[in-house]
Amino acid sequence: MTSNTNRRTRRGVMTLMALVLLATPVFAQTRVSYHSNKYKVSDDVQVGRQAAAEVERQVPILNDSYVQSHVEGVGQRLVNAIPSEFQHPEFRYFFKVVNARDINAFALPGGPMYINRGMIEAARTEGEMAGVMAHELAHVALRHGTAQATKAQKYSVLAGIGAIAGAVIGGAPGAIIGQGSQAAVGTYFLKFSREYETEADILGAQIRARAGYDPRDLANMFRTIQSQGGSGSGGPEFLSSHPNPANRYERINQEAAMLRVENPIRNSNEFASVQQRLRGQGRAPTMAEIARGGQRYPVEGGNYPSNYPEGNIGGRVGYPSSRYQTFNGGNLFQVSYPDNWRALGEGQNSVWFAPDGAYGQAQGVTVFTHGVNVGVAQSQGGNLQQATDAFVNSLAQGNRNMRQQSNYQRGSISGRNALAITLGNANEATGRPESILIYTTLLRSGGLFYMIGVAPQNEYRNYQATFRNILTSIRLND
Ligand SMILES: [Zn+2]
Repeated sequence: MTSNTNRRTRRGVMTLMALVLLATPVFAQTRVSYHSNKYKVSDDVQVGRQAAAEVERQVPILNDSYVQSHVEGVGQRLVNAIPSEFQHPEFRYFFKVVNARDINAFALPGGPMYINRGMIEAARTEGEMAGVMAHELAHVALRHGTAQATKAQKYSVLAGIGAIAGAVIGGAPGAIIGQGSQAAVGTYFLKFSREYETEADILGAQIRARAGYDPRDLANMFRTIQSQGGSGSGGPEFLSSHPNPANRYERINQEAAMLRVENPIRNSNEFASVQQRLRGQGRAPTMAEIARGGQRYPVEGGNYPSNYPEGNIGGRVGYPSSRYQTFNGGNLFQVSYPDNWRALGEGQNSVWFAPDGAYGQAQGVTVFTHGVNVGVAQSQGGNLQQATDAFVNSLAQGNRNMRQQSNYQRGSISGRNALAITLGNANEATGRPESILIYTTLLRSGGLFYMIGVAPQNEYRNYQATFRNILTSIRLND
C-alpha cells in the first residue's frame, strides 16, 4: 500500500539523477584498493568452500527454483559488473536463499553468498536487495576475509588455512547463523571493521551503477532495515555484522553522485512475483529457532514456556511416569505428557516435553536425547505426503547424520489421517545413535501439525508406549 507511493517518488528521483549524471561525463569515482594479504587467491576459494559446506549443514536452503533463479540472475549481473581489477577468475560466485526470517545476508571468501528470505521480503525494490548483495560482493572481491585474517595474525597465533577455516566455522553453529555471534571467533569473515565497511559501500555502489541499479540502493535498504528492525524480524542482525561507519548514507550518496548508471534497470515484475511467492509460504523460522535444532515453527497462543533451562544432558534419565498432565496449545491443540517430564520451549514456538537429564546446551544449541516435540510447521500447500516430505527434508538439512529408517505408514492424530515415519540420527550432543519417530497431519488452516518423539536407539523400545500415549492424547481444535 505505501510501497506504491515510495516507488513513484523514487522513480522521480532516479530520472532527475540520470539527467544530472548525463551532464557530467567525467568519472570521478573513488579508487578503492586491496589491503595487504598474505594469503593466495586460491586460499580464499578453499576457505570459502569449507565454510559454505558447514553453513549448509546448519541452515535450511530455500527449495524454490523460481526464487533461486531470480536471485542468481541478480547476483550474476552484479558479478559481471565487478571492475576488472577486482575480478578473480578462480572465484566461483553463487547465491543461495536461506529460509530464515531475519533480515540478513552474508558472503564467504571466494564467492559463496547466502541471502535470507527475510531480506528479500523486506526489500522494497529489487534494487534494494541488489544493494545488499553488491555490498557483500565487494567484501569478497576485495578479499576482506583473508585481509582481516592477515591483520589479526599480527596479534595472535592463528596460522594456516586450516585454522582460518576453523575460525569461520568455529565449531559453533551460532557463530555462523547469528545467535551469540558477537562473542564468537566465527565472526571472523562476517564482521568487518568500519574501514572495510566503507570500502565495501563504495565499491558496492560502483558495482550497482555498472550493473544498472541505483547506486544509492544500499543506503535505501539500510533505511528499510532500520524501519523494520523493531518488529521482531531480527533486522538488527545485519546492522550488527556490518558496523555503521560514520556518515554512511552521506558517503554512499556522495559516491553515487559521481557514478553514471549504465542501462538502468526498472523495478522488475519478476522481483514482485518473487516476493509474492515468498509471502505465500507462511512464516520462515528465525535463525535463533534454526540454531536450536530442527526448524520449529510457531503455534499461536497457548501458555508456552519462555526459556530453555540449562539442563544437564547425559544425566540420569528416569523412566517416564504413567501419570500424565495436560498441556494447552492455545486454541489449537491439547496434549498430555508424563508428569515427571517438563514442558520446555521458546516464546511462542513449539513445545518440547522431556525428562531431567535428557536435554541441555551443546555448542549454543539446545539438544534433546529423550522427549517429545509438538508444533506446527509451515506447509507449502499440496497433500499430506508432500507437506511431510518437505518437513522431513527441512529437519534433515539441519542434521547431517539423519537417515530415513522406514517408509511412510498411515496413522491418525485426533481422528485425522496422519503419516508416520522413523528416522535414525546421531545425537548432536552425545554422538550416540538415536531413533526419531515423526507423526504429521494437515491442519484445516493449512499448517502441518507434527509430533516428534526421540530416544536413544537402545532405549527406544522403552519409549514406544509413552510416545503412543502422547500421540493418542492429542486433541486438535482447528
Ligand atoms: Zn559489510
